[in-house]
Amino acid sequence: MAYKTDLDKLRHSCSHVMAQAVQELWPQTKVTIGPAIENGFYYDFDRKEPFTENDLVKIEKVMRKIIERKSKFSQYFMSREEAIALFGKQNEPYKIELIEGLADQEVSFFKTGEEWFDLCKGPHIDNVGQIKAFKLLSVAGSYWRGDEHRPMLQRIYGTAFFTQEELDSYLKMLKEAGQRDHRKLGPQLDLFDFYHETAGAGLVFYHPSGAMLRKTIEDYLREQHLKHDYQMVMTPHILKGKLWEISGHAEHYKENMYYFDVDEEKFAVKPMNCPGHILIYKSKLRSYNNLPIRYFELGSVYRREKVGVLHGLLRVRGFTQDDAHIFCRQDQIEFEVCQVIKFALEVMKDFGFPVVGRDIHFELSTRPDDYMGSLPQWETATQALESSLKNTQLPYAINEGDGAFYGPKIDVKLKDALGRQWQCATIQCDFSLPQRFGLSYVNSQGKEEQPIMIHRAILGSIERFIGMLVEHYGGAFPVWLAPIQALIVPIAAQHHAYALFVKDDLQKGGVRVIIDQRNESLGKRIREGTIKKIPYLLIVGDNEAKEGTVAVRRYGQGDQGVCPLAAFVAKIREEICLRQS
Ligand SMILES: [Zn+2]
Ligand SMILES: [Zn+2]
Repeated sequence: MAYKTDLDKLRHSCSHVMAQAVQELWPQTKVTIGPAIENGFYYDFDRKEPFTENDLVKIEKVMRKIIERKSKFSQYFMSREEAIALFGKQNEPYKIELIEGLADQEVSFFKTGEEWFDLCKGPHIDNVGQIKAFKLLSVAGSYWRGDEHRPMLQRIYGTAFFTQEELDSYLKMLKEAGQRDHRKLGPQLDLFDFYHETAGAGLVFYHPSGAMLRKTIEDYLREQHLKHDYQMVMTPHILKGKLWEISGHAEHYKENMYYFDVDEEKFAVKPMNCPGHILIYKSKLRSYNNLPIRYFELGSVYRREKVGVLHGLLRVRGFTQDDAHIFCRQDQIEFEVCQVIKFALEVMKDFGFPVVGRDIHFELSTRPDDYMGSLPQWETATQALESSLKNTQLPYAINEGDGAFYGPKIDVKLKDALGRQWQCATIQCDFSLPQRFGLSYVNSQGKEEQPIMIHRAILGSIERFIGMLVEHYGGAFPVWLAPIQALIVPIAAQHHAYALFVKDDLQKGGVRVIIDQRNESLGKRIREGTIKKIPYLLIVGDNEAKEGTVAVRRYGQGDQGVCPLAAFVAKIREEICLRQS
């Protein structure tokens, strides 16, 4: 792995120091790999006894001693055979397997002073003394090479920064993020759960509140796509194996697909929606003045991810994309991409994410070495993408050569309430699928020409987006998204009739509302409504019933006083319509 930034080099170097410390403390421990990752680093170890919290403290202490020695990192090389023999002597089977998987005859090593060495291509910082601020964070199980059939290893996560201040503020953010973790909040707020053991890993079950949240998001998406001149389509979840051969997925994506036989014919569950949309495009003769055609689908797809990489809603095996494919002429790419970017920014703003300045980040990935399509095609498309980005007047980065083999793309990343960056929209040009499926349109000269296909998603995976929303808001959603928008709490049994009247008025206004008329104390019912983070609690008793009012409590803001019912309905409706955060 080539590390591009100094921070990555620092963190990866810290992972060497950690592995060295672990082997100094427990020499029997076998080492595997230890890359820098976003926000830190890890190292995977094979050790019988589990690492405890206390062990992490011990490791940190030894790491500090190693760092004090200020030993230099230096690179050296060995032949494959020598390297395999060396690790054989040291009883490091994982390292041997890694070397066996390398194509090179010469194997690169990095040593720390004369104390410790690791199979590694680097790069590293100059010496360990440059590690000024680090912290070991957690231990998790991980499978060797992410494969559930291989041995279970122990992964120690840590992080490092150039200064103590940066480390401190990161740890503070991490604590807050822990409290907002959607894997914790999801079940706690009764939104969703996973029944890993019974139903399978990486498959989401939406409970009523979660399903309501998702419905709200989906309704919003449908409405917005229609407003932006997309046409809705729906395509089957299973498609013939032959279709996946034409699309190239059978060749390039097979490991991630679920195949099965029907009447002796191969079928696969769709991992992507593109081929379905292509078949609809192909159903008619298309002319230049029919283009662009924009098909939108809330398309559910299944991808066989390794169990080791599954992570709450962020990485699952079944998810739904807000997926669209735009079939257009070459001269329409720029306009279409501009529209998609504008659309994406509007959507993000509606969901309460900041879409200005440094909070939003665009990346343009350009032509790789092994590209398909013609050079002029790539140039036109890449230029079109870049001018669309310039048009937004927002900053963007170019990832030279990082595009897919079939076309350049734009990724949009945004920051949440804790300043963490999330990938959301992608806009991808494709010269390959139109060719594989023989797509065409009749141009103005009456000749057949191949359209360009643009794949685009704004939220990406709805599952992932919900995970991100839960963490962004810490589960306290804006009123328009909240599964239950108002909870009516009648003070005593004699106020039930008025509570029903209030509920009826709110429901007629399109508000999602329930009554808590359990025979529990008022205090307890208010507390429980607050724990569920329901935006509005409406308490009704004698006075409210007599005067036609409600006593309003707003989540996070407390008592808002008494308000005439009609005025409250108008206010909450306005908040919903304006999607106020
Ligand atoms: Zn290294
Ligand atoms: Zn697609």
